[in-house]
Amino acid sequence: MKRHFLRRRAASQNVDCRHVGSWLQSYLDGELDEVRHRDVARHLRDCRRCGMEASTHRELKASLRRSVPTPEETASLNRLRDFAERLAGG
Ligand SMILES: [Zn+2]
Repeated sequence: MKRHFLRRRAASQNVDCRHVGSWLQSYLDGELDEVRHRDVARHLRDCRRCGMEASTHRELKASLRRSVPTPEETASLNRLRDFAERLAGG
């Protein structure tokens, strides 16, 4: 009689909510590799709880993107960028 053990495959089929939670930000930023991205997308479609969480994050990001930075924020961003460029340039 054979015993069956659950074995994880490299190209996973089942991702659980915990994994999706930790991948969600990268998923929304489009930073996951293709296989994982698809796994997460499928889970979000099938799992109401994670799907809700994802859409909340997505809306949050969208509203952040909509808000226009103040002149001060822009100025300090530019300063930071100059600084970083000077560091990179040596
Ligand atoms: Zn889930």
